[in-house]
Amino acid sequence: MNASTQCPHSDLHFDLNHVGLADTNVHYLEIKARCKICEKPMVFRGLPLGLTPYHPTGEVGGFEARLPFLAEGEELSGNIVGFTGKLVGIETRK
Ligand SMILES: [Zn+2]
Repeated sequence: MNASTQCPHSDLHFDLNHVGLADTNVHYLEIKARCKICEKPMVFRGLPLGLTPYHPTGEVGGFEARLPFLAEGEELSGNIVGFTGKLVGIETRK
């Protein structure tokens, strides 16, 4: 594939990683995606930066989505920790 051809990104490879924290019942599914044709990583959009058991988050750049989950019927328990944030000024960097 040359640079002038637009890849349809029609064949994606997903990396799924399950993370369970020892002192809480929260689990996370970490997702990354890459095109098998052009090898470009996919960018997850609209996710706040961080890691928290209360909503999905992403890493810097959006290359990884982090989805928190519990077993059906459970409530959050244990040592609940997390963070969310916003990068300032990254839009103006060249
Ligand atoms: Zn592609």
